[in-house]
Amino acid sequence: MPWCDPCNKYLAPNAVNEDGSCPTCETPVDASDMKETEVAKAPWHFWLMVIALVLYLGWRLIQFALWGIAKL
Ligand SMILES: [Zn+2]
Repeated sequence: MPWCDPCNKYLAPNAVNEDGSCPTCETPVDASDMKETEVAKAPWHFWLMVIALVLYLGWRLIQFALWGIAKL
């Protein structure tokens, strides 16, 4: 949602002027939040990192389980 600092309020994306300014004070509003769907698409190396982390934690869990069994 575009945020207008001088008005101190959120503006509906369709309430913003065509040039991306506030209809009340004409200040250009920050429309970066409108790209939320693009941000949601994580890059491939992010998923690679997640997979690596899951494998690492899984391995540590196995090690911990083996250590627990060995102690019995
Ligand atoms: Zn404004």
